[in-house]
Amino acid sequence: MEPESAATRPAPRVVTVTGLVDPATLGVVDAHDHLFLDSPALPGQAFDDLELTTAEVVEGRDSGIGTIVEMTPIGLGRRPAKMRAASEATGVRVVAATGYHRDSHYPAGHWVHAATTEVLADRILADLRVGMHPADWLDPALPPDGARAGAIKGGASYHRISASEAKRLDAIGGASAATDAPILVHCEVGTMAFEIIERLEAAGARPDRIALAHMDRNPDAELHADICARGVTLGYDTIGRTKYHPDSLVLDLVERLVAAGHGDRLMLGLDLGARDYLRAYGGGPGLRYLMTAFVPRLRRRLGHAATDAILITNPAQFYAYPHGGPR
Ligand SMILES: [Zn+2]
Repeated sequence: MEPESAATRPAPRVVTVTGLVDPATLGVVDAHDHLFLDSPALPGQAFDDLELTTAEVVEGRDSGIGTIVEMTPIGLGRRPAKMRAASEATGVRVVAATGYHRDSHYPAGHWVHAATTEVLADRILADLRVGMHPADWLDPALPPDGARAGAIKGGASYHRISASEAKRLDAIGGASAATDAPILVHCEVGTMAFEIIERLEAAGARPDRIALAHMDRNPDAELHADICARGVTLGYDTIGRTKYHPDSLVLDLVERLVAAGHGDRLMLGLDLGARDYLRAYGGGPGLRYLMTAFVPRLRRRLGHAATDAILITNPAQFYAYPHGGPR
């Protein structure tokens, strides 16, 4: 049999808010962050100002970041038009998210709790294939934004997957199986990793389309190596969250996982999901922290090749649709 020719095989592509791009052009990727967010679970911590967020992104860009994966999901104040504007103003690529967070972000009575798995999945598929809903699906009749989501967010509770979360994970796994979209799941304090993977796989998702966020909150290198051996990617994204742990703990974890042969399954981000974390809004450490404070220390430990693989190559591969876009 003839191998599939390069001419007939579509090249991998990343869906950004400004269109499809070649994954080789992403540069350094902040693999989990937030530009706009408003959650009832985080009172007083909303950030929604285009001018201030743009100033924050400029600092990130000037520190060396080329692409930001913006993981604000449905129902948490996702702002497609503002994401496009911030990306166009700064030249920083932005990959937006669809999908759903864990229960604590959806008060009792929120539509996600009553929705069927089919409705939950259909809304993800519309965000991925057509364009993001402009207002968190509160009025389903509104026309879609011109920007498509390029990834799916999921979430589960601390040591527990509720019935409502299980339904949303089923929808997320099914939507990824249908489209090849990458999935990033919030693991509360790094718990429930294998239960989440099993749920998503049962719904049809492939392990190479799954990444787990916040695993550095549960800094268990043996557990992490087992997850990587299964073909799933890890997001270390509580860098600079000094109230949880010092950065040296994340540096140690990265070093151990690279030594165990899993350097190809690691991605980094800051997950600045509160107003208090953003310099432009009067807080810190800010979007520049990854490149100004953490990466120089990482380069000292790993050298340039392994560091660049984690910052550039791994997220480019993970966030790219292997067949040129969502199926
Ligand atoms: Zn986040």
